[in-house]
Amino acid sequence: MNVRVICDFDGTIAEKDMIATIMREFVPDEAEPIIQAVYRGEKTVRAGVEEMFQLLPSARFEEIAAFARRNTVVRPGFQEFIHSCGQLGWKVAIVSGGFDFFVHPVIHSLSTPVDIYCNQLDLSGPRCRVKWGVLCDDACTGDCGLCKPSVMRQLADGQTRFIVVGDGVTDFKAALEADYVFARARLLDLVRDQALPASPFDTFYDIVDVIEDGGSNLYAHL
Ligand SMILES: [Zn+2]
Repeated sequence: MNVRVICDFDGTIAEKDMIATIMREFVPDEAEPIIQAVYRGEKTVRAGVEEMFQLLPSARFEEIAAFARRNTVVRPGFQEFIHSCGQLGWKVAIVSGGFDFFVHPVIHSLSTPVDIYCNQLDLSGPRCRVKWGVLCDDACTGDCGLCKPSVMRQLADGQTRFIVVGDGVTDFKAALEADYVFARARLLDLVRDQALPASPFDTFYDIVDVIEDGGSNLYAHL
């Protein structure tokens, strides 16, 4: 059995949402209405994130990247989770709506290889411009920015089972296409509303407990 784990970054691997944390530090007054509009669904994630990074001068990038690295707190048990997946022969893909400058430093410290899908910044102009990793394919109308279900469709081969790990609204479309979900925060409410096969988690140790228990509910769905 081929199993692929699709794991979110912000609010999942990292305890906080780094894009919002950066914006609230560097451009709080201008960014807050955009953050709220995205949260309320009045603006798409793609449009909101592009607008917010346009607020930041490219010349401040090193300062922003250093701030992000200093303020990243990794959820407990992440290394053990990646190790357990590797032992089972499961491939892990970190699929993040965030950016390489704060995702890569966390992932590169791991001893087990993982795939990374995230975004980059174009710093060639006076202001930061978003270069999206994987935009929505024809099957998605969400204007997601980095589109998680589109990544899953690229990886699907008809035999692969998908496990999604996440916390937020951008993980929900991926969760709908998954065989099993590990969810916290807002995603947990959404998957429970839809009665999707799922387990809650607080730390990655909670997930390790489930995947190392061959009799767990997870294995009824793979
Ligand atoms: Zn999409």
